[in-house]
Amino acid sequence: MSGVRSIFYVLDKQENKIYQSTIKGKILDTEFSIKNRKELSPLVAGDRVRFEKIDAKTGRIISRYERKNEFRRLKNSGREIQTIVANLDYLIVVDSIDTPPLRPFFIDRCIISADYMKIPLLIVFNKIDLLNDDNRELYELAKNTYEKLNIETIDVSTVTNSGIDKLKDKIKDKLCSFNGRSGVGKSSIIKRIDEQYSKIRVGEINKKFNRGRHTTTFSQVYPLSFGGHIIDTPGIRELAVYIDKPNDVEAFFRDFDEFRADCRFPTCQHIDEPNCRVLEALENGDIEEFRYESYLRIRETIEKISDSEI
Ligand code: GDP
Ligand code: ZN
Repeated sequence: MSGVRSIFYVLDKQENKIYQSTIKGKILDTEFSIKNRKELSPLVAGDRVRFEKIDAKTGRIISRYERKNEFRRLKNSGREIQTIVANLDYLIVVDSIDTPPLRPFFIDRCIISADYMKIPLLIVFNKIDLLNDDNRELYELAKNTYEKLNIETIDVSTVTNSGIDKLKDKIKDKLCSFNGRSGVGKSSIIKRIDEQYSKIRVGEINKKFNRGRHTTTFSQVYPLSFGGHIIDTPGIRELAVYIDKPNDVEAFFRDFDEFRADCRFPTCQHIDEPNCRVLEALENGDIEEFRYESYLRIRETIEKISDSEI
C-alpha cells in the first residue's frame, strides 16, 4: 500500500496489480494517539490492508492490519509524531567512503532509531572504490565497531559494481527504505540494482513513481523487477531521532551492555556519576570515543525536543 492524502495505491500481491483505492466510510479516519501525541496519518506506505475491489482498477480499503513496525519521526518540535512507513524489513543506511566523507554520527542516529522502532538495519558503505590512505582509518573503525555490534555491513561501489549482487540478494522480496545523506549515492544504487531504472537520469528516477506529486512526505515506491520494493522518502532521509526521553537513549547503545550493569547507580546515565563503568571502559578504550560522542549528541537532541514540549 502507498499513497497520498485520500487516494491510496493498493498492490494485490496475488495478481501483482495495483488498485487505486479510497477508504471505505470513516473507519480509518480516526486520529491514532501515541503517548499523547497526535498521529497524523492512519495509512502509510507499507501498510497491509483489507480491501474490496470495485472494478478492474479501483477499490475501497476496509481496514488496516496490525503493523510489525513503524518508521516514525517527530514534527513540530516534538509535538506530533508522523509515521512515514510501516512494515519495513530493512532500514538500509547508505553512507559513502568519501565525497561526502563517512559520517558515523549519522549512522549511529539511524542505528539507535531503528533499534528503538524494532526495524532491522543494514549499513551500506558506498563508493568503496574511493578508499584510500586518507579515509581508510575512519572506515575501518566504523566497520569494525558496527560488526562487533552484529550489524550487517556491505561495501558497495556503483562504479565497479562491487557488492551490488550481495545487496540484491539481501533485499530480494523485501520492503526496504534507503536512508542516507544527499550525495552518498542512493539513486545510483537504485539504478545499478535494477535494469528498469538504469536508463533514467538520476534526478528523474524520483518522478517515475511519483505521479507528479512533490510533497515532502510522499513516499516514492520503487518496485524491484527481481522482487521486493524500495521506499524512498524525503522525511526518512533527514532522520531526526525518535526516542521519547533522554534517559531512554543509553539502553540502545549496545556496546555499553557489558559495562552498565556494574555502574554504581542502576539509573546511571554515564555522564559524570561516580564509579561509572561505562566511563571507565571509555577511558580504557573498550568503548569507541565516537560512539560515546554519538551518545551525548543524541541525548542532547532529545533533551531539546523534551524542553520545547513544556
Ligand atoms: P544521492 O543523492 O544519495 O541519490 O546520490 P547520487 O546517486 O545522486 O550520487 C551522488 C554522486 O556520487 C554522483 O555524482 C554519483 O556519480 C557519485 N557516485 C555514486 N555512487 C558512486 C560510487 O560507488 N563511486 C563513486 N566514485 N562515485 C559514486
Ligand atoms: Zn555509568
